[in-house]
Amino acid sequence: MRINERQLAQVNDRINALVTAGSFYGKKLKEAGITHVADAEEFEKLPFSEKADLRDAYPLGLMTAPEEEIVRIHSSSGTTGLPVIIPYTAKDVDDWGEMFRRCYETAGIGKGDRIQITPGYGLWTAGIGFQNGCEKLGAMAVPMGPGNTEKQLQMMMDLKTTVLCSTSSYALLLAEEIERRGIRDKIHLKKGVIGSERWSKAMRERIQGILGIELYDIYGLTEIYGPGIGINCKGSDYMHIWDDYLYLEIIDPVTGKNLPDGEWGEIVITTLVKEGAPLIRYRTHDLSRIIPGKCECGRSYPRIDIIKGRTDDMIKIKGVNVFPAQIEEVLAKFEEASSEYQIRISHLDGRDTMRLYVEAVSGHVDFAELSKKIAAKTKAAIGFTPIVKVVEAGLLPRSEKKSKRVFDERYD
Ligand code: ZN
Repeated sequence: MRINERQLAQVNDRINALVTAGSFYGKKLKEAGITHVADAEEFEKLPFSEKADLRDAYPLGLMTAPEEEIVRIHSSSGTTGLPVIIPYTAKDVDDWGEMFRRCYETAGIGKGDRIQITPGYGLWTAGIGFQNGCEKLGAMAVPMGPGNTEKQLQMMMDLKTTVLCSTSSYALLLAEEIERRGIRDKIHLKKGVIGSERWSKAMRERIQGILGIELYDIYGLTEIYGPGIGINCKGSDYMHIWDDYLYLEIIDPVTGKNLPDGEWGEIVITTLVKEGAPLIRYRTHDLSRIIPGKCECGRSYPRIDIIKGRTDDMIKIKGVNVFPAQIEEVLAKFEEASSEYQIRISHLDGRDTMRLYVEAVSGHVDFAELSKKIAAKTKAAIGFTPIVKVVEAGLLPRSEKKSKRVFDERYD
């Protein structure tokens, strides 16, 4: 997938706006002497923008449209230091709503639905994003915001809510509460739209198991409108991305070079029509890959895989970037292997070695045979052969929180 003529023209229009406004990226371009990109190659040489740049622009340095046209700001929670403030024009708010409406529509949600929105309202983009899209769709919004499980369940029953919008952890909490109280038959939920955070297959199956609803993954980040820039379609895990508003690239997070479709790397997003705070080649640090080919649903919007973590999870070994997600994908192909694994990287006799410990499922498993098969499949996925050791079920440590699976002992 490469940037097309229409998208290039839109990028040039945004470059023009950024340079004219003298915002941080405009200055960056001016210094580099760039005011126009002629083709995909030139586009792929444009400098990236980073969260740190956005933070440096605090409070309103990202503003690219005249202030009279700014109707709203949103802010991402800054875990360290200053937050990032994103200004929106009326058109930005409208475009975002349209993208979100399309997300609902892709999930088969329509005017007759009642949508209970549990993400938070306020400075951040969550609740209000779900709300905008819902109103544009013409469905009935039940704007609950987070917490107060008692009231959530009451409204869910009395209003016969058909769609739940929430984080995966809150969806699980509500599902378990519904199960505990034995009120599933009073609940009318058919679908769940789950905000982007990394969540396990087991968690998904648990929610589905209790509630028996279809679950959809919605993607987005505050810097780029908010949630709603993409969603999976029925029967597929892959998310369609609205490429009439955004251009998405996958890059090698170390070299910054563009990767071919199908390869895992970091998502980089360019906003094509955003006015308040356009972003060119914004590094999200989210890991995914572009899915080549057409989707069975018939939509021609490009697709990405489920977000498999952050670039910070990446390991560099033997000159190759390895992501835990790649290992998980290999293990998922073996019925005899559980989803539990551990990676240990060490430096022995002048070279790096990767050991992969895999737990067998209980039952009769030929450990030596399984090790060999996993090693071969892993080589096909990452380019070199690790030392694979299959261990008994339950041997690898479990954790209530996210288990630590990668141990880099090279620098200990
Ligand atoms: Zn599709």
